[in-house]
Amino acid sequence: MFKTDPFELYSVVNGTIRLDGGAMFGVVPKVLWDKVCDVDGLNRILLATRTLVAVDRASRRVVLVDTGCGRKWSVEEVDRFCVHYDPEAIPAALGSMGLSEADVTDVVITHLHFDHNGGLTDWFDDPGGRTEVRYPRARHWIHRGHWEHANDPSTKDKASFLSRDFAVLAEAGVLSFVEGALPGAPFEGVEWFVSNGHTPCQLHPIFGSGSKRVLFAGDIVPTMAHLRLGWVMAYDVEPLVTICEKEAIYRRCYEEGTVLAFPHDAKVGGVQLDGTVARPVVSKTVPL
Ligand SMILES: [Zn+2]
Repeated sequence: MFKTDPFELYSVVNGTIRLDGGAMFGVVPKVLWDKVCDVDGLNRILLATRTLVAVDRASRRVVLVDTGCGRKWSVEEVDRFCVHYDPEAIPAALGSMGLSEADVTDVVITHLHFDHNGGLTDWFDDPGGRTEVRYPRARHWIHRGHWEHANDPSTKDKASFLSRDFAVLAEAGVLSFVEGALPGAPFEGVEWFVSNGHTPCQLHPIFGSGSKRVLFAGDIVPTMAHLRLGWVMAYDVEPLVTICEKEAIYRRCYEEGTVLAFPHDAKVGGVQLDGTVARPVVSKTVPL
């Protein structure tokens, strides 16, 4: 747990997935990235899928950032991506804090790629049957530009968006849209950073204030290995923009002492940075 004002923060591993190592590291050769990754015989690297849980006990606000792959998978898809999703991970983490899923007040959707937010919806009755919102009482924060893109993706990235994960959100009336490049704070203790390199209008929450802040890096810096400026994903729609956004994020980390929280690192929830913008190094891992 990491304490900011007013939130307690926890990085919860809700499952794992394996994605092609070449796709995860773009033009970086395998001889470099296979030294720092768990690679299987199909060239796929192991990634955790993490939910950042933020709890403000005074205001009874319980925020989930991303919800993992969820359970709505065919046997063939599970096999292709080696999807392991633990439906009890988030309830168990909340339970350890004396909370339940019914207490979730807000869900932050960084973006709608299936490995980040398949867990927003679920098949409650029978596999392949009716899809329902998993947190129907929570406000679901998403950037409007990203919502529009996810509903009309490009040829390059359309395989990353599964409409079964999010189509019912609009019908359920749970969406709260964030607008513009510099959106205002949604509530006390949170501000937004918006990026466009990985996918249009990815939404990154920054929790806390002063010198105790945590920025959820989303898929701009998915793992500790991606801290190197040039190590960007082939999935990115604008990789040069991703590099500029990494520089902007690292500057914030240095100037404000902000902790960087990863969505996919298999071992580490977050880090504090040292070094320079061009050559960031980890000064310490942060137990989240
Ligand atoms: Zn993504």
